[in-house]
Amino acid sequence: MKRVVLLGSTGSIGTSTVKVAEDLPDRIQLIGLGAGNNTELLLEQVRRHRPAAISITDPLKAKALRDVLGTSPEVFSGAEGLIKLATLPAADIVLIAIVGTAGLQPALAAIRAGKDIAIASKEILVMAGEIVMSEARRHGVRVLAVDSEHSAIFQCLDGKPSTSVRKLWLTASGGPFRQTPKEDFAHITVEGALKHPSWVMGRKITIDSATLFNKGLEMIEARWLFDIEMARVGVVVHPQSVVHSMVEFVDGSMLAQLSTPDMCLPIQYALTCPDRVPSDRVQTSLARLGNLTFEEPDPIRFPALDLARRAGEEGGTMPAVLNAANEVAVEAFVNRRISFCQISETVAATLQRHRVVAHPTLEQILEADAWARREACR
Ligand code: NDP
Repeated sequence: MKRVVLLGSTGSIGTSTVKVAEDLPDRIQLIGLGAGNNTELLLEQVRRHRPAAISITDPLKAKALRDVLGTSPEVFSGAEGLIKLATLPAADIVLIAIVGTAGLQPALAAIRAGKDIAIASKEILVMAGEIVMSEARRHGVRVLAVDSEHSAIFQCLDGKPSTSVRKLWLTASGGPFRQTPKEDFAHITVEGALKHPSWVMGRKITIDSATLFNKGLEMIEARWLFDIEMARVGVVVHPQSVVHSMVEFVDGSMLAQLSTPDMCLPIQYALTCPDRVPSDRVQTSLARLGNLTFEEPDPIRFPALDLARRAGEEGGTMPAVLNAANEVAVEAFVNRRISFCQISETVAATLQRHRVVAHPTLEQILEADAWARREACR
């Protein structure tokens, strides 16, 4: 039985994780649930799973929950509440699926408390990959991937070191504008950008999939998770989203992981690996799929990839700035204050103005994050 703390239980990854726990009641026990604002869904999850502790952002909502639930589970609130959950003595693993930067401190707290972590929130490794991975090594804990691409690479590598790798290949669906001509990019609407062709996900990551910033963030994440330099992380567009990613080994052999898109599969693997646990949820018929196609990403229409590669290569505080500027720009786009093309323009301009700090401390990373948020608003 694995005792799991789930941060972001009311989100897209969170609810898929709850489904996986319900599929495998003999293997997974949810002992801590952290949410942002969705009290109703959190309450429903508490009634089904009876965790030892929960947390919600707003202290007033936490008080209301205590009034309803009594003394069990314990109810925490705010940033502090997430840290309390992440360090619950009984937890074996903490799965972090919170949008934005709020997952970073709980991730470090969990590692320092000797817990394995499973990461969906890309921001954690993008912002602080060097610190998170070195702390994980120091405390002898595992950092597992929940993202389907990184889970695929993890499965294909199967413990092989980065010296056996020629290149890691992340697949990208290409998003809703894969075939949209450059001249039509000026007319892209929020509604159009929120229509992902193959995955149903939270709002921020859906926009990031349309700009390809999502893939850019994943390149930086892969660099840290698999201890490999950016130059050996490539991207190939694969519209069917069936090949989740590939490893090209030094002898020229390539291994890929395939399945119809369903986040329950990588979530389950993160929580049960190295075991393969029976589940009927995902069925893949290659004959019915017929064709799997691959193409080069277009750097002109999708500048996000080059921006992320440059930020990842420069390292230090640059990836945190990339991430924060993108978050601000996505929010501005969703609120119809800037156009789709201005998302990458905003990020590029912010990166250009940033004075990078090499091997930053956590404080310097958070300062760079705050600076980028102010600059990106200018
Ligand atoms: P959602 O927007 O669907 O869910 C976000 C979750 O985080 C919700 O439970 C929300 O709570 C909670 N939350 C937000 N802010 C806070 C906070 N300050 N404190 C506590 N909880 C908070 O996002 P996704 O599930 O789509 O994505 C989560 C992360 O996983 C992102 O980093 C994303 O990039 C990554 N990811 C997502 C994938 C997907 O398929 N969705 C695939 C791979 C990675 P509430 O709803 O209660 O307000």
